[in-house]
Amino acid sequence: MRYNKHRLFIEKVNAQSIAKKVDTPFYCYSFNKLKTNINNFKKNFNKIDPLICFSVKSNNNLYILRIIKKFGLGADVVSKGELLRALKAGISPNKIVFSGVGKTKEEINFAIDKKILLINAESEDEINVINKIAIKKKKKVNVGLRLNPNIDAKTLKKISTGRNEDKFGVPEKIFLKIIRKFNSSSTINIRCLSVHIGSQILDHKPYLRMIRVIENIIKKSKNKFDYIDLGGGMGIDYGLNSKKLNYKKYSSSIERLLKKYKVKFIFEPGRSIIGDTACLITKVIYVKSSTKKNFIILDSAMNDFMRPALYGSLHRIIPTVKNNKILKKIHDFVGPICETTDRFLTLKKYQQLKENDTLAICDVGAYGIVLASNYNLRPKPAEVLINNSSLKIISKRENINKII
Ligand SMILES: *Cc1c(COP(=O)(O)O)cnc(C)c1O
Repeated sequence: MRYNKHRLFIEKVNAQSIAKKVDTPFYCYSFNKLKTNINNFKKNFNKIDPLICFSVKSNNNLYILRIIKKFGLGADVVSKGELLRALKAGISPNKIVFSGVGKTKEEINFAIDKKILLINAESEDEINVINKIAIKKKKKVNVGLRLNPNIDAKTLKKISTGRNEDKFGVPEKIFLKIIRKFNSSSTINIRCLSVHIGSQILDHKPYLRMIRVIENIIKKSKNKFDYIDLGGGMGIDYGLNSKKLNYKKYSSSIERLLKKYKVKFIFEPGRSIIGDTACLITKVIYVKSSTKKNFIILDSAMNDFMRPALYGSLHRIIPTVKNNKILKKIHDFVGPICETTDRFLTLKKYQQLKENDTLAICDVGAYGIVLASNYNLRPKPAEVLINNSSLKIISKRENINKII
């Protein structure tokens, strides 16, 4: 996205002109940004040559997944629905890992039948269930065991996953016990050690600590792992602080581990691949002036994009046409939904706005459309993909009559 003569362009297309063709609000993705992100991710870890399994929960649009597949990535899924979607996108089962604390028997059965690369188990009970199913099927199942390394990734509390009080993975003691128990099993093959310590991580230090914990556990377990799945969580720049994750330091610490143990590394990035590839294009319905504030009432709301309401996260909102008439009043950007948390952003100064002006809420590609709902009986928004000067609807706006 960039401005040219005060007009916002997404690749070669004028953002305002898209809003004339497609009903707002809608998600608008950039193909070339996605391509760049994938290539950068590969470059950042090129010495490790990892298997990159895109986290489908961050964005499950079929068309997006097909692009991701085309660039050679696999998938990290957390439900049967996501597994079906990944397979439908043509992603090979031997590039799919299945994570999640509460996989049902049905989901485990299905995953085994589809011969996916790894079922990443998160508890002793789950491994026992996988074992029972494997015995019934007379199969040896490849599993990963998720370690809870007790590391605070110092990210938002609501998206931290690697501390002892979080529900994910098993602590070291239980990890080692499970490894011993299934050491010579003919039905369970624990081929992978997996971790995932949280999301939107911008500080490399928790990752380095995580690598040290992993090395320690490998030594103690004396198990030969074929894979180490390091999860995702790499943070992106939402444009509000200039912090950037130091990929070099993270990558070198993994390289050191690779020299000692010949394993295949797996990553499960979501946000760092798709987060900054999209914006949500929205229009101003009303400008409601009160004594100290202007409420900018948008046609998009928390049902279209829930991150601000759910996590208190901040996303830049930029005009599709700049006018340079700065207003001194505070601007509260809100949606029409009957909830006080249906607010995107509060800004001290903003340009003058009026009805029908078009705005872009930035960096909504990850945990955007996947969290959309029909709250207040609003149809979910469309998704559009821009590639150079072409525009493609990759998911239609929900039809209101069908919902009714
Ligand atoms: C959510 C999740 C990811 C992806 O996290 P990002 O922060 O989007 O990279 C990866 N692995 C697991 C197990 C997850 O739950």
